Amino acid sequence: MNFALRVKMLKPSPTLSISAKANALKAEGRDIIGFGAGEPDFDTPEHIKEAAIAAIKAGFTKYTAVAGIDELKDAIIQKLQKENGLSYKRAEIVVSSGAKHSLYNIAQVLFEKGDEVIIPGPYWVSYTDIVQLAEATPVIIETGEESGFKVSPDDLEKAMTKRTKAVIFNSPCNPTGATYSESEIRALAEVIASRDVIVISDDIYEKILYDDQIFFNMANVDEELKRKTIVVNGVSKTYAMTGWRIGYAAGSQDIMSQVANIQSQNTSNATSISQKASVAALMGKQDEVFIMVEEFRKRRDYIVSRLNAIEGVRCSKPAGSFYVFPNLSGFYGRRSFMGKKVSGSDSITEYLLEEANVAVVPGAAFGDDRHVRISYATSMANIEKGMNRIADALAKLD
Ligand code: PMP
Ligand code: GLU
Repeated sequence: MNFALRVKMLKPSPTLSISAKANALKAEGRDIIGFGAGEPDFDTPEHIKEAAIAAIKAGFTKYTAVAGIDELKDAIIQKLQKENGLSYKRAEIVVSSGAKHSLYNIAQVLFEKGDEVIIPGPYWVSYTDIVQLAEATPVIIETGEESGFKVSPDDLEKAMTKRTKAVIFNSPCNPTGATYSESEIRALAEVIASRDVIVISDDIYEKILYDDQIFFNMANVDEELKRKTIVVNGVSKTYAMTGWRIGYAAGSQDIMSQVANIQSQNTSNATSISQKASVAALMGKQDEVFIMVEEFRKRRDYIVSRLNAIEGVRCSKPAGSFYVFPNLSGFYGRRSFMGKKVSGSDSITEYLLEEANVAVVPGAAFGDDRHVRISYATSMANIEKGMNRIADALAKLD
């Protein structure tokens, strides 16, 4: 089959395929510890499930308005106002089938051939493909451990060209957990303020934040930056609702009406039942969110200390998200007892899966081959067992 060029360039999401591979091996009976999946291991809170059941029973099972039901838009507006200090109207909100879908729609609306989109790296695996599917060019700003995986205003300035259409910010970041403070965001905003550039702020890990960090968005800087920013968020991570597929975007009405148009020609509305459940998530009690975040914090502390106790591993302590991104490059060039050389993040991931029955995601997928990503959205017992296995397997390399 002669497939379209866009498909030939496309790679399947590595995070999703590693989770699928780990699950397939488990189904074959292998005792795999999965550190691949970027989804909370907690169950969706009961009152959210109840709202979905009530929606089904009430027959709320038909098409809805493409951009989302008013009740959910109002809940989102209220959330953005109360928690983020940002005011939006209904026409400035579009609800989609996950934040990934929001990002995809936005890219289709704004980007075309010749446009450049700046992405600080390490970056979430889908940004580059979403940009390329819109025929634009991703421009990666490489950061590293030394800078806490954060871009400086100078880095951002240097990456800007006449062709720069947008910058994608993701704080807390997947995969590094790096989180920008208000002053860091304000300094970056100064570079953006004078330019005709759009900011896409992916806030999906907003609530998975530790150590009294305060979340701050580029749109909070001033009215000018708010006008330039599209806020993307969703219920997947905060409410353990990955399978429900609800994300949303908030931005200026001219952009959001085009986002709704694109959506009207591909998926139509996001699932009616999930929309009702998301109203309950946003408007209902939030205590389970705090319980989850506190549990994530304990796991983070444990996993970071275990990793740093392994000779040859270096792992910084992230301020947000549920990932750690240890540097394993000290092991590259060493050999397993089978004589196989570990040469980079792909091969060390393969080695850990084969030797230790542990699934991690290679850093190369996020643009940094020196690291691997470990998701600690799994039980403490699994983390303990997985860390023992990783320590043993790495010690065997020589
Ligand atoms: N952005 C980032 C950084 C993510 O890690 C994810 C995880 N899937 C998403 C967006 C998309 O989330 P969802 O489509 O489940 O809302
Ligand atoms: N975002 C999550 C991750 O990075 C879920 C998988 C995906 O959508 O890529 O693992």
